[in-house]
Amino acid sequence: MIERPELRLRGIPAAPGIAIGAALVMGDARAVAVQRAIDEGEISQELDRFEAAKAAARIELRRVAEGTEFNANAPAPAEFDANAFSGGDPAAILEAYVAMLNDPELDDRVRRHIAVNRQNAEAAVCTASDEITKLFSAAKDAYIQERRHDVAFVCDLVLRALVQKEPERGLLASTATIVLARDLSPADTAGVVRERALGFSTERGSRTSHTAIMARALEMPAVLGVEGLLRAVTTGDMVVVDGFRGEVILHPSASTLAAAEARLFAHHAFLRTLRETNGGDAGTADGVRIELLANVELAAEARVAEGHGAEGIGLFRTEFLYIDRSTPPTEDEQFAIYRETILAMNGKPVVLRTFDIGGDKFASSFEVPPELNPALGLRAVRLALSRPEVLLVQLRAMARASAFGDLRILVPMVSQVAEMKKVRELLAQAVAEIRARGEATADTIPLGMMIEVPSAAILADVFARHADFFSLGTNDLVQYLLAVDRTNTELAPLASPYDPAALRLIANVAREAEAAGIPLSICGAMASDLHALPLLVGLGLRKLSMEPATIRTVKAALRRLDAATCRTIATRALQAESATEVRAMVHEATESLLSDLLALCAAT
Ligand code: PEP
Ligand code: MG
Repeated sequence: MIERPELRLRGIPAAPGIAIGAALVMGDARAVAVQRAIDEGEISQELDRFEAAKAAARIELRRVAEGTEFNANAPAPAEFDANAFSGGDPAAILEAYVAMLNDPELDDRVRRHIAVNRQNAEAAVCTASDEITKLFSAAKDAYIQERRHDVAFVCDLVLRALVQKEPERGLLASTATIVLARDLSPADTAGVVRERALGFSTERGSRTSHTAIMARALEMPAVLGVEGLLRAVTTGDMVVVDGFRGEVILHPSASTLAAAEARLFAHHAFLRTLRETNGGDAGTADGVRIELLANVELAAEARVAEGHGAEGIGLFRTEFLYIDRSTPPTEDEQFAIYRETILAMNGKPVVLRTFDIGGDKFASSFEVPPELNPALGLRAVRLALSRPEVLLVQLRAMARASAFGDLRILVPMVSQVAEMKKVRELLAQAVAEIRARGEATADTIPLGMMIEVPSAAILADVFARHADFFSLGTNDLVQYLLAVDRTNTELAPLASPYDPAALRLIANVAREAEAAGIPLSICGAMASDLHALPLLVGLGLRKLSMEPATIRTVKAALRRLDAATCRTIATRALQAESATEVRAMVHEATESLLSDLLALCAAT
């Protein structure tokens, strides 16, 4: 047997974890479909084959839907509704695919290509798929463009049925498998999970694609957007998917394999130890209590967060509900998602942030005019207040959900007191409207604000009179404070939350929140940076909100820290001259204490 050299390919780390196993390359049905011209006499037979293939595809989708661990009881939409994709509920997404199978846009085109253009069913499906994906690609909006993949998936399903290509499941049942594909639909992802594949990787996809989101919600290691993946691999090859580093290693050498296995086992052992020893409240070694909360984007993630020991949802980024659709989500749709989240958290607090759209987060349901500096433009609360009718729908949905648990509302990117006043007015109006309908709301709904614009951090004492709580958004705070675009990877080293300027702002916010007696949390990425923990604890932060999977590690790290020492470190850091100086300081203080935890985090 010829030994193939090891090949390392980079991609987007879409879901954390390491998976090692035999490759299962999911075939591209197009490659094996015979496309040909037909005679008039074959038309009705080809139309029948198309109908039968659609029926088979529908059965396959329903079979997968029933197997998802999520509730598959979602009612089937009567017709294709692109908006169904945005809720992120796998069962609803699968049902949307079922409806898409009957969409006239697809159906009529295929029938026309068979009956008029005399193509066989395979060729007609391919042509229709190309035409529709081309239409979607031409859309201005990036999220509408993304929908072309959904069309391609549905057509691929029909093609698979036409060429009677069974989804490759045999291997899945018996072997530890890594699924590799050009692209995977959320439906495929759910199917793969059902069959207990260990991980997967695709050539296409982005971190915000549904497939990535589903992989994270299901906690399955995944690397997406790996160029040249399928050219280099065949079914049965040994593969390592490293969802921490965003790397796929094909035909790993014996030493690479041993190293990957060691990391995998260490990671599992570490997680096991964390689970076993991580009970009880989070806090420092000297008994300072720290609350650990979760950042989520989907209702389904709330369940995952609970499993990781989250004491509540510190940030629900609701903008995800507005993305990937042509109209904003209705009040009922939003209400269902918020209520599901709240119920999943069993009475623990849930902070819902009003939509933070604009900047680098686009949503097709809003016509935001092109701007030279979108991060400094019509974004978040500014956009919401320019479309009060859309914000009111969201506030009404939140007000209704407040009757089911501890709900709080957070306003993003506030830079003016007037913005908080206006949102408060609109919230009062929303609550009044719901009550006038005879529906219940909580007696009070706390309204807080993100501190992510430097002006708000500087005027924290003033804003504290208008907000019921603060949440520090260090991702944006650093971007605006240091004038570094947060999406610019080349400038990323400059955008450091260790910068003493950022630390002084955080210190000011902590001081003023305490003086005003309002709760303060942090939900930026800094909250789960182990090196930053002594600074945050030392500056007075007592609530940290982060990606669910990082909660246990942070909890373990906190237990080794001493709040009194943290205060000394923070005091010194506030006097430092640069982020580099602060970084060196905290590295020295934490390295030996947290070395095992840091070694694992270094992988991430
Ligand atoms: C932040 O800016 O730190 C934050 C948590 O919000 P987002 O990342 O959604 O802008
Ligand atoms: Mg932000």
